[in-house]
Amino acid sequence: MIILGSTGSIGVNTLIMAKKFNLKIEVLTANKNVDLLNKQIKKFNPKFVVIGSKNLRKQVNHKKVFFGGEGILEVLNLAKSKLVVNALVGFAGLKPTLEAIKLNKKIALANKESLVVGGKFVDTSNIFPIDSEHFGLWYLLNDKKPKKMIITASGGAFRDTPLDELKNVTISEALNHPNWSMGQKITIDSATMTNKLFELLEAKWLFNIKKLDAIIETKSLIHALIDFKDGSSTAHIATANMQLPIAYAVNKKIKTQIVKPVDLVKVGGLEFREIKKDRYAIWEIKDDILKNPHLGVIVNSANEIAVEKFLQKKIGFLDISKITLKAYQKFHNVKPLSIEEIFIIDKEVRKFTQK
Ligand code: NDP
Ligand code: MG
Repeated sequence: MIILGSTGSIGVNTLIMAKKFNLKIEVLTANKNVDLLNKQIKKFNPKFVVIGSKNLRKQVNHKKVFFGGEGILEVLNLAKSKLVVNALVGFAGLKPTLEAIKLNKKIALANKESLVVGGKFVDTSNIFPIDSEHFGLWYLLNDKKPKKMIITASGGAFRDTPLDELKNVTISEALNHPNWSMGQKITIDSATMTNKLFELLEAKWLFNIKKLDAIIETKSLIHALIDFKDGSSTAHIATANMQLPIAYAVNKKIKTQIVKPVDLVKVGGLEFREIKKDRYAIWEIKDDILKNPHLGVIVNSANEIAVEKFLQKKIGFLDISKITLKAYQKFHNVKPLSIEEIFIIDKEVRKFTQK
């Protein structure tokens, strides 16, 4: 298979699953982390590799090293593998998703941003989600017709922080996720609840369902719930470990144990909470964006800039959502008519947000 973003949190877990199932790796890609990429090359012997920039090329121990976003597209065309794991982070994942679709490859999609920004124009028929909630929904569906889908959130790093302390929280506090170990951006997105907003859009495009919502379950053991017409609901319960969705995304016939089963007696109790606007300002637009899912591109582009600025200590934690909401208002009337327009809008929103 092809693994885009092999040095990231999802990428590393994908390689563990590849080893477990004896799957061959044709492509590995990284942005900057040459050391880990070189270790992965030694262990998995890929045919092609891609690194983020030209000046890092010489440091990569491989004969066929491509570079940059164009390099990823080139390699997708050269590789014979039918399966692409897109574990890139952010808007950079969109073009590879589109290219893989064009090439008729199957996509194991961790890069939710591809759907958040371009969902209206992305054919999802060859996409299998690597996201615990969407995997949970898929697992529960079982050919039955759902009435409503509900995904859960952990509440992120600041779910219990007094509201008046939120404006002064630090980067390291924001990166301290209570239940999951993930890359930086998604960990910040969890703290602001923007990740859950993205996941509602992701669910909308994947399952084409109108009734969608999210609630907090503080232990991240229930990942998704489905309400059916008859009044019954089912819940997907599993240990918080991405290897389970990844295993299904790369190998549909799972016959062995991937994660330890949850012992509910040991767990003792579960706690559910409503997602509230006073703690998670971004939740203000939840209903509106579900009615206007094409606006996902606005939220994503503004959020990417804002998260970057927060990580550079240029803005405070609460400014991330404040800035994103400002961009959302400013560009609310935008109606992209093609995927090409998504790229134009993305640039515009970034320019506005930078200012
Ligand atoms: P990481 O930041 O850990 O990894 C991102 C990967 O993409 C790294 O290999 C990185 O390279 C590479 N990369 C980053 N920027 C670029 C770029 N501009 N061009 C090319 N490559 C780039 O992220 P995660 O693994 O946490 O997340 C990946 C995706 O999966 C995200 O969309 C996230 O929302 C989603 N996801 C993640 C989950 C998790 O548990 N981590 C759970 C559910 C979804 P380098 O290492 O060299 O910087
Ligand atoms: Mg998720």
